[in-house]
Amino acid sequence: MNKKWVYLFKEGSASQKNLLGGKGANLSEMTNIGLPVPPGLTVTTEACTEFYKQGKKLTDEIISQIKDNLKMLEKQTEKKFGDVENPLLVSVRSGAAISMPGMMDTILNLGLNDNTVEGITKKTGNSRFAYDSYRRFIQMFSDVVLGIPKYKFDYALDDLKEKNGYKYDTELTTDDLKILVEEFKNIYKLETKSDFPLEPEKQLLMAVEAVFRSWNNARAITYRNLYDISHDIGTAVNVQSMVFGNMGDTSGTGVAFTRNPSTGENRVFGEFLINAQGEDVVAGIRTPLTIDKLNDVMPEIYDQFIESANNLEQHYRDMQDIEFTIEQGKLYLLQTRTGKRTAESSLRVAVEMVEEGLISKEEAVMRVDPKSLDQLLHPRFDPIEIKKSAPIANGLPASPGAATGKIFFTAEDAVAASEKGEATILVRKETSPEDIEGMNKARGILTSRGGMTSHAAVVARGMGKCCVAGCETIYVDEVKKIMSVGDDILKEGDYISLDGSTGNIYKGSINTVEPSLSGNFGKLMKWADEFRKLGIRTNADTPKDSETAVKFGAEGIGLCRTEHMFFKESRIFSVRKMIVSDSIVQREKALEEILPMQKNDFKEIFKIMGPRPVTIRLLDPPLHEFIPTNEEDIAELSKDMNIPISKLKDLIHSLHEFNPMLGHRGCRLAITYPEIARMQARAIIEAAIEVSKEENITIVPEIMVPLVGKKEELNILRKLIMETAEKVKEEKNSKLEYLIGTMIEIPRACVTADEIAEVADFYSFGTNDLTQMTFGYSRDDAGKFISAYREVGILEQDPFQSIDQAGVGKLVDMAVTLGKKAKSHLHMGVCGEHGGDPASIEFFHKTGLDYVSCSPFRVPVARLAAAQAALNNKI
Ligand code: PEP
Ligand code: MG
Repeated sequence: MNKKWVYLFKEGSASQKNLLGGKGANLSEMTNIGLPVPPGLTVTTEACTEFYKQGKKLTDEIISQIKDNLKMLEKQTEKKFGDVENPLLVSVRSGAAISMPGMMDTILNLGLNDNTVEGITKKTGNSRFAYDSYRRFIQMFSDVVLGIPKYKFDYALDDLKEKNGYKYDTELTTDDLKILVEEFKNIYKLETKSDFPLEPEKQLLMAVEAVFRSWNNARAITYRNLYDISHDIGTAVNVQSMVFGNMGDTSGTGVAFTRNPSTGENRVFGEFLINAQGEDVVAGIRTPLTIDKLNDVMPEIYDQFIESANNLEQHYRDMQDIEFTIEQGKLYLLQTRTGKRTAESSLRVAVEMVEEGLISKEEAVMRVDPKSLDQLLHPRFDPIEIKKSAPIANGLPASPGAATGKIFFTAEDAVAASEKGEATILVRKETSPEDIEGMNKARGILTSRGGMTSHAAVVARGMGKCCVAGCETIYVDEVKKIMSVGDDILKEGDYISLDGSTGNIYKGSINTVEPSLSGNFGKLMKWADEFRKLGIRTNADTPKDSETAVKFGAEGIGLCRTEHMFFKESRIFSVRKMIVSDSIVQREKALEEILPMQKNDFKEIFKIMGPRPVTIRLLDPPLHEFIPTNEEDIAELSKDMNIPISKLKDLIHSLHEFNPMLGHRGCRLAITYPEIARMQARAIIEAAIEVSKEENITIVPEIMVPLVGKKEELNILRKLIMETAEKVKEEKNSKLEYLIGTMIEIPRACVTADEIAEVADFYSFGTNDLTQMTFGYSRDDAGKFISAYREVGILEQDPFQSIDQAGVGKLVDMAVTLGKKAKSHLHMGVCGEHGGDPASIEFFHKTGLDYVSCSPFRVPVARLAAAQAALNNKI
């Protein structure tokens, strides 16, 4: 028996990808499961190899098989190649086993000639359509098959339009198009020295040869070299019958999803047009009808379509986006693919498909993009209103959500207006810890400077508040209280709207809609928890944040930054007194004022967290961040402390540092001002003992020392903390257990992690500082060049958002290995911003960390990402 070079779609199967190419195998599969796919045939990849073996010639046997199969195709479609009454037209596409760009483009409407064009006119009752298709076919065929440049045809088209004074192609009449067809044929002749082939069979054989030749064009070869694809496997050619939706009132075309792509509702959702071609739906010239209306006009087709849609969904086990055409009362499915959907829809579809028994819980967990959960947890703009709005500027999408309100340029002004019930947006060049109250009260925050880990970005994410940071195209004048974007000037009290998920900024107000956390969210999260190995903690330093995080499923606090507690209106004065004290006695007196306040903060947090672990970090930022900057505050402090203003100013000046992020901060503060660390340790231990007793629970506080680079630093502070803790325990007659650990955020700490482990109970990787110090990029200034670095390909992503696995990640990995070698039970987590980034979470999973800690609103993202990491890396 002769070798089989050509297969009808109904003869192939999904498993024959190597022989039929990906597209061909898929068309066969759809045909085999009983879907009404327009019939067609596939010339195999082996025929391509044979073509090359024969010196780029189709053998007689291959040609004869193509012709035989064509006959069968004619039978199947009840149409005939070249027939005036009922012409068969086909599309021709390449299709290798591995999807590969760079090969031949699709040719549509092959089979058109001077006779068949009349047949199409009769069938569609639309001569303009027929001739427009014909001239397009000649151009496409000439370009794709013979490489005649497109512009030669475009010139002819433009000339004709100009002669007639037309602006658009749509103004061309049938007669114009007939002229164009002749001109196009002339161009063909001029270029090839032969007539345009009018016999459909000849057109087809030429097209098949062109597909085979395109296997070895330069682009395809480069692609294969790049991706290590063998040059010997060849491509298949798919020849599929064309169907027309514009053949009268029993024809039509449409697009539909098997479920609602915005809500996920399990009901076919789509639109169709009677007597129209696909382009008419997309072009939006006529208003399509909703798919249910198909039931009124063609009930049988509607039933068949619904059944096919269900079959497709069952077969592919996911929501499908289907293109269909009805040709004279016959339904055809032209294409199906996995449907794009919103986060809400994605969640509902995944959960409901598990409940329907269609997919497993693992698959559902894998199907939802963790990052998209953000969309569900924050307010967003009214989808109709936002469509009508154009952004005036774009900054970094620092913290998701949407916010609209009146702009204010200082924290005080934002607080005052918010307290009067106004919706406010705080606009600053950049924020500092002093702005915390204003940030808390505002609906959203906009800064013109700073990156994704700038103060504004980190704090806003922590608060779950919308923030656009580092918008360099706006100019902010905090003194004049104006901002400008190009020629637009906005004053205090003007409305703006921020989209923290895209970084877009809009003038005026746009309504927002609140998130609705349906039961599906909870279900998916529960399944994620079943699969994940990483623990999920949160970075929280207020009772409100802690509560939010617990609601979202946090299993503990991985980082409680104590500095934010120092900025509260009622206590900043005492903090300032502590800083400017010139004797230990004075300092201790000021610290005594702070102690009960800190203790109370911790008590509130412990109460909310219950027995869950809470890691509290000792004071980290440089002291100058707390000192007064305006004259009024300086005068007040000078009076209270009885220090002359000039001396106070000198003192303030002496606290200034050239490079504060590498200066007097972190554990260096605790070593030089041990009274601060003692006060904090006392506040933590007293709070833990009291809440343990009051609530009758076991609390094991974790006290964390920041910025350790040498073992000795931690050793000294460990002793100091233990002395205080033991004293408090004795005073309170308590047996409370506690842990003392450190942040690992300095490269030196990573490479000496075995030494440091000797004096640490736990490690928490501060990947913000670790990234800053490993790259030598300032966290607050990197925004200026990161995007340029990404554009030229130096950086693939912002390393402050997603961990740089090759560099910073390697240090983390090394520290984990060294740490565990020295102390096998050393508990380790990460509390930098990367703890909420899905790609980084997968890396931390593989590294063997025990938990990740992230801002409250990212807790669900982290739960899902951790589950996906575990499922992706199952051994
Ligand atoms: C870090 O450096 O990663 C960290 C969590 O600490 P901070 O951002 O407060 O410096
Ligand atoms: Mg840090």
